[in-house]
Amino acid sequence: MNKNVYENYDEKKLKKAFDFCEGYKQFISSAKTERESIIETIKIATNAGYKNLDDIIKSGKKLKAGDKIYSVNMDKAIILAIIGKSPIENGLNIVGSHIDSPRLDLKATPLYEDNKMCMLDTHYYGGIKKYQWTATPLAIHGIICKKDGTKIRLNYGENENDPVFGISDLLPHLDKEKRTEIVTGEELNLLVGTIPDKDKKTDAVKENIVKILKSHNIDEEDLFSAEIEIVPAGKARDFGIDKSMVFGYGQDDKVCAYTSLMAMLNLKNPEKTCVCLLVDKEEIGSVGATGMESMFFENTIADLISIITDYSDLKLRHALKNSKMLSSDVTAAFDPNRPTPFNKNTDAFLARGIAFCKYTGSRGKSGASDANPEFIANLRKILDENNINYQATEMGKVEAGGGGTIAYIMAKYDMDVIDAGVPVLSMHAPWEITAKVDIFETYLTYDVFYRFM
Ligand code: MN
Ligand code: MN
Repeated sequence: MNKNVYENYDEKKLKKAFDFCEGYKQFISSAKTERESIIETIKIATNAGYKNLDDIIKSGKKLKAGDKIYSVNMDKAIILAIIGKSPIENGLNIVGSHIDSPRLDLKATPLYEDNKMCMLDTHYYGGIKKYQWTATPLAIHGIICKKDGTKIRLNYGENENDPVFGISDLLPHLDKEKRTEIVTGEELNLLVGTIPDKDKKTDAVKENIVKILKSHNIDEEDLFSAEIEIVPAGKARDFGIDKSMVFGYGQDDKVCAYTSLMAMLNLKNPEKTCVCLLVDKEEIGSVGATGMESMFFENTIADLISIITDYSDLKLRHALKNSKMLSSDVTAAFDPNRPTPFNKNTDAFLARGIAFCKYTGSRGKSGASDANPEFIANLRKILDENNINYQATEMGKVEAGGGGTIAYIMAKYDMDVIDAGVPVLSMHAPWEITAKVDIFETYLTYDVFYRFM
């Protein structure tokens, strides 16, 4: 525990970790939004024989041990499950992570002109340092829903031949106020055009953009019924001269989503029913119909019970109470450039493996879901027996700040939960950094958790 992973790796294992991360880089390069993550996840799951739960319910069939299902909520959250040999009332082994990431969302009436420049107004989503989002290439992803029921999917700025977008920033020469870290939310406006429509007297540049949108069947008012996310443009890449790290957008928390999904695909005939849960809205408090606070999880487990055995409310409650969960979310890695908020004795480091956080919260553990030591002891046994590299962590010094995950929401069912995930440098920045060995160890951890917990 708490050792540098490379001490325990030979060439062969290191190659395995590097190979594993090739798939990971591909996944996060094409799954930048929650909807895109769901599309990619369904693709991977159906190829591996997972069936849509709705279809099974309609068919009236019953499920048996080893059967694999998935259930989707509003295209933004998903549950994958493999039915275990043991009765479902004995509990589930759950790994849950989130697929939303910090970004800029377009406002409902975003388009305007300012001094012959056409702009798109945004409202940032999640905790960001706003200055990091200026002067960097951005792409437009999302969906526009038309009144006739059609949906237009946007993915603009990723292809080499696409233009990119961005938010301008002042040159240092004129930035007397030295506002290097003080960009405001209202200043995050995307510049998208400068050519005027010569037939128009007012807002001619904006009108020209409106004309271009129209040629793609998009009316300006359609932007009201849309979900458009501005994310960093470009693919995830290797990081470092030794290529030991991954540089990519949205690793919080798609690194845990991908590793838990891969661990699920690896599973055959588990003892317990195993669940991979990918949810939306964690970055803004897990609220809303697609966040962890919604009834989706509970309803899906109820459905699951009804097609495995005879449903009863008591069976559902027992299944949830007897479950064990890894709330799989990233944590802060020690930063050599900005060491002040870290305690080197208790915080997570790159390349020390998956990080277990007994409690999150802040200032006197406020808001924490504090994991039970009995559960942690069980975990240690499984991890040590399977040669997993892991570390214990807090998130920064006691009074440095803090954070939360979905752990406390699942703990409400009276189940054992602990936070466990990959340490990240530059978390919530447009491009985040992780170590490949930590990603691989996280995958291995979820695998042994599913099989042996
Ligand atoms: Mn997270
Ligand atoms: Mn986060």
